[in-house]
Amino acid sequence: MPIAKGYAATDASKPLVPFTFERREPNDDDVVIDIKFSGICHSDIHQARNEWGNSTYPMVPGHEIAGVVTAVGSKVTQFKVGDRVGVGCFVDSCVHCESRNVDLEQYMPGVVPTYNGFEADGVTPTYGGYSNTITVKEGYVLSIPDNLPLDKAAPLLCAGITLYSPLVHWKAGPGKKVAIVGMGGLGHMGVKIGAALGAEITVLSQSLSKKDDGIAFGAKDYYATADKETFKKLAGTFDLIICTVGTEIDWNAYLNLLKIDGALVLVGLPENPVPVHAFSLVMGRRSLAGSSIGSIKETQEMLDFCGKHNITPEIEIIDIQQVNEAYERVIKSDVRYRFVIDIASLDKA
Ligand SMILES: [Zn+2]
Repeated sequence: MPIAKGYAATDASKPLVPFTFERREPNDDDVVIDIKFSGICHSDIHQARNEWGNSTYPMVPGHEIAGVVTAVGSKVTQFKVGDRVGVGCFVDSCVHCESRNVDLEQYMPGVVPTYNGFEADGVTPTYGGYSNTITVKEGYVLSIPDNLPLDKAAPLLCAGITLYSPLVHWKAGPGKKVAIVGMGGLGHMGVKIGAALGAEITVLSQSLSKKDDGIAFGAKDYYATADKETFKKLAGTFDLIICTVGTEIDWNAYLNLLKIDGALVLVGLPENPVPVHAFSLVMGRRSLAGSSIGSIKETQEMLDFCGKHNITPEIEIIDIQQVNEAYERVIKSDVRYRFVIDIASLDKA
């Protein structure tokens, strides 16, 4: 069995530590990837610390993976050694959704998460991208456009697709007014992708501290939500609002910013139930909806779109030995805008 080196959480309350484990012998339809960079997603922290109550240990987090193909199985047709590739939030799904070809496998119960889950056999744990190699079925490997550097491409695999999918589904484009709530790892991707789609983007952030960045990334307007005037001034303005924050906000106040037929779409995951007045929805035929990542087909479309428009996240590269302090900084929103682990640092003493 090929040996992988990485970092793992061994328990909900302990820091991540170096961890050596086995990857499977590649099958005919497998692609073996030398991982170069792995983004840090807030959900890595939730799962490493068992904040969703479904964690299994040891856990190697990481579902924003970018690397280079080092071997392919005999039946692989789409990839060859040396190709630049990515892996996102899942690495397999049930035969049922594959055969139906619905391209919504991210919503299927049989989807196999890249880490903190089990292979289709139900017993073999999956280990993620905070490691130097991964073996993935060809159908779950993405191709990274030549003009996107691997370090910056990594966060597209989760943060990028998390915003691209609802923007496209709710038809963000020319003539549409779109608000992005929150200017973090997810939100800043929403600004860049939404602007490239041709929509008029407004950022709604707690303060104006990142306003210059927001405008530079393509937003037309930028408002502080701590200022009550914002909610008066922008009432009835937006076709679409995408909420990237995982904290409690005044949902009715945000719904009131929508036009008739507008939609408020959650991609962040607040801990508590979302309290909404029926009036906020009924008076304006508004929708409250949610969205989770995207299918493999849509993720490839997103990567190609980002390649064409030269869209990449703003990142801070760290060594893997700094992962625990990076987690603390993510929790404090002290990163502009996504941490990416340089996997080569695993070889440092
Ligand atoms: Zn993620």
